[in-house]
Amino acid sequence: REELEKMVVTDHLTKLYSRSYLDDKIHQSMNEDHEGTFMMIDIDNFKLINDTFGHQVGDDVIIQVANLINANIRGSDIGARWGGEELAIYLPGVSLTAGLVIAERLVKRVSESTEPQVTISCGVSHWNRGRHDSYPTLFKRADKALYIAKQSGKNKVIVQEHEDRSK
Ligand code: C2E
Ligand code: C2E
Repeated sequence: REELEKMVVTDHLTKLYSRSYLDDKIHQSMNEDHEGTFMMIDIDNFKLINDTFGHQVGDDVIIQVANLINANIRGSDIGARWGGEELAIYLPGVSLTAGLVIAERLVKRVSESTEPQVTISCGVSHWNRGRHDSYPTLFKRADKALYIAKQSGKNKVIVQEHEDRSK
């Protein structure tokens, strides 16, 4: 039974958390915490890496990035595989300012210590209780930020701030 739970919770290739576990944790955090930061991470030019070096190297690059994520976030933070070469991190109770520190640290570490060298782009969003953010908008904003990071040159962090319509 413990083995079965591990399978559902963990992504096989990267040993990061699975997307369904990440979803659960975000929902839980949005009920219990006051704020949190979410980031979507995508390996830049991944198709080119696969085409140039082959799928085995492609997989190894995903694992390298996953290991760097695990080594650079706290045990209470949730690093997950979103799918393919897309990864995600959820930081329960973490402010946008601190979230950006972490995102910048990761982008830098990945560009410094992967072989073959790869870079990542990172889209960041943040919620807090006062604004009544929902999970779909948290996700949409991070995804949009990631898209902008890609469009504007990659290897960077972009944050998509909440549009507060009540103001
Ligand atoms: P910093 O690296 O500039 O981080 C500033 C603040 O961002 C931290 O304040 C914390 O609130 C948040 N933060 C940074 N990285 C993470 C992370 O991976 N996960 C989470 N959940 N939050 C993070 P804090 O805790 O008061 O730490 C102040 C400073 O102490 C940090 O500044 C850093 O220089 C050092 N520090 C704290 N813990 C560690 C650690 O485990 N390893 C290293 N190398 N330095 C640490
Ligand atoms: P941990 O809290 O699970 O953090 C794992 C790794 O995430 C850290 O490895 C570091 O690479 C990164 N990290 C986490 N928080 C921060 C931060 O605020 N700033 C920066 N720059 N990096 C951060 P590291 O540094 O080898 O630390 C290993 C473990 O040692 C940490 O595991 C934590 O349990 C402990 N630790 C290290 N420095 C501090 C500290 O300043 N305060 C506390 N309370 N614990 C620390």
